Amino acid sequence: MKQQRMLIPTLRDVPGDAEAASHRLMLRAGLIRQLSSGIYSYLPLGLKALQHIQTIVREEMDAAGAQEMLMPALHPSELWKASGRWDVYGPELMRLEDRNGREFALGATHEEVITSIVKDEIHSYKKLPVTLYQIQTKYRDERRPRFGLLRGREFLMKDAYSFDSSAEGLDESYTSMYNAYVNIFTRCGLQFRAVEADSGAIGGTDTHEFMALAEVGEDTIVHCPSCQYAANLEKALGRMPEQGAQSQASATSEPAKIHTPAISSIKQLIQFLQISPQQIIKSVALDVDGTPVIVLLRGDYELNEIKLKQTLGAADVSMLSENEILKLGSIAGFIGPVGLPNVKILADISTRGIIDAVVGANELDYHLTHVSLERDLPHTTYLDLHNVAEGELCSHCGHELLFAKGIEVGHVFKLGTKYSKSLGATFSDEHGNSEPIIMGCYGIGVSRVLAAVIEQNYDEQGIIWPETIAPFSIHLLTVQPQNEIQMKLSQDLYTALQQAGYSVLWDDREERPGVKFNDADLLGFPVRVTVGKKAGDRIIECKERRSGLSYEFTVQQLLAHCQ
Ligand code: ATP
Ligand code: MG
Ligand code: MG
Ligand code: MG
Repeated sequence: MKQQRMLIPTLRDVPGDAEAASHRLMLRAGLIRQLSSGIYSYLPLGLKALQHIQTIVREEMDAAGAQEMLMPALHPSELWKASGRWDVYGPELMRLEDRNGREFALGATHEEVITSIVKDEIHSYKKLPVTLYQIQTKYRDERRPRFGLLRGREFLMKDAYSFDSSAEGLDESYTSMYNAYVNIFTRCGLQFRAVEADSGAIGGTDTHEFMALAEVGEDTIVHCPSCQYAANLEKALGRMPEQGAQSQASATSEPAKIHTPAISSIKQLIQFLQISPQQIIKSVALDVDGTPVIVLLRGDYELNEIKLKQTLGAADVSMLSENEILKLGSIAGFIGPVGLPNVKILADISTRGIIDAVVGANELDYHLTHVSLERDLPHTTYLDLHNVAEGELCSHCGHELLFAKGIEVGHVFKLGTKYSKSLGATFSDEHGNSEPIIMGCYGIGVSRVLAAVIEQNYDEQGIIWPETIAPFSIHLLTVQPQNEIQMKLSQDLYTALQQAGYSVLWDDREERPGVKFNDADLLGFPVRVTVGKKAGDRIIECKERRSGLSYEFTVQQLLAHCQ
């Protein structure tokens, strides 16, 4: 492709509100443009990179035996009502009406639709197992769309759904998807960890998240730099205390996964957990033994100071300055009064097997249940985080543990029969008995992966694409397009490199060399081939974007190298 004719609107400066590096670079390199908050167009270069990710996803899903299909984005509300999620999903679900006043949702995820298809088409154990997937646009009215493609309101997701006739079958389907995810993220050149996670609004009991390590990530994981251990600290709870704060927690004879620190006010609780402004007390519930339990979840809900006052009593609230209350974010969904001295804080949720207690949070589908620890999946760790603080030693290899920020790029769930039961998707087993189909679901944020790849691969000059994702593999740059010798040599190379199987963007523009070199660094393809002054001697320069190393080659040497 000749750059002269291609729409690559690079920018020197970016709008001030682009905080994340990937967002800034995608705007600057002309990969995307914003249409509205959380809604983006992919320009030609951005689309190419996105398509490369889709190809990797397709290849690995197909290799794992999953079958591609495509479902509608427009869902009749009846389906979501049947599963119960019309009410549960809340304002994140985009809703609309047709001309006759019939309600629809824009698909935020497709459990309902796929289950209704399987319900109609599969009736016997002989047709199971089956795993179906699609790569499709999803809609979520995120409260805070931000960081460009990292948190959009319209985004591209690969979602897969497995259907099995037995729990063992589900285990196999799950492991096969899990392994496909490891392959996908590895091929995308991402540094990632798989961690245990809570199941959020989807309602599964066995689930892992795949976290791309990056400072901009909204989740915190603890990991060991020397072995593979990693765990999510933050899905359903406040951050673990830093060293020092740890000693304030009184030792407890509770099961190892539950802290009972000596805390008598919200203020101490905040200090103990070092809650960041984004973390709030989302809900309070009764533990199995009747003790109130505070479940900390990320999110930001509207400040509800009145509820806070009613629940805790004015005395406690008065201990917080207005600023602190604001910082705390908001308090949502309390059930009944909370006697703080008795509160159990589930500070270990979502790390090691969640918790033994069944926590009845007051929001449907936020029920956290015990998760078996008897699993053996690669890239996953089951750290005992009971006493983990930054700087402590890994219980597996003795290396110092680190905290890191992660971007959730993928998520695998064992759903069980939640949707098959509510939507009536059953099969008849070998004995003719009717049973609900056992399901799993598996998501990858394809557009989020694109941004995550950039978050991990850039420098001050611009993007540094991994070869597998780069929009083009070679950037051929003609320093002086008006120079006939340079143009002729460039044309020969352009043809020869493409014949050798490389994708080439040829910068044939009449621009100052400085502008062209800067753009090449910004666009960040793996190799730049520069045709300049030495074209007469058939000598060109090759520069590796990642290492910055450059070499002079004769044309023959280059082409021999490329064969
Ligand atoms: P998050 O915790 O970031 O809100 P999620 O847990 O709500 O994500 P899932 O329902 O697990 O997301 O969806 C599957 C995948 O889709 C996620 O792992 C993530 O990679 C991607 N994804 C979810 N929400 C968004 C979004 N708003 N923009 C881009 N990708 C997203
Ligand atoms: Mg979400
Ligand atoms: Mg999540
Ligand atoms: Mg998720």
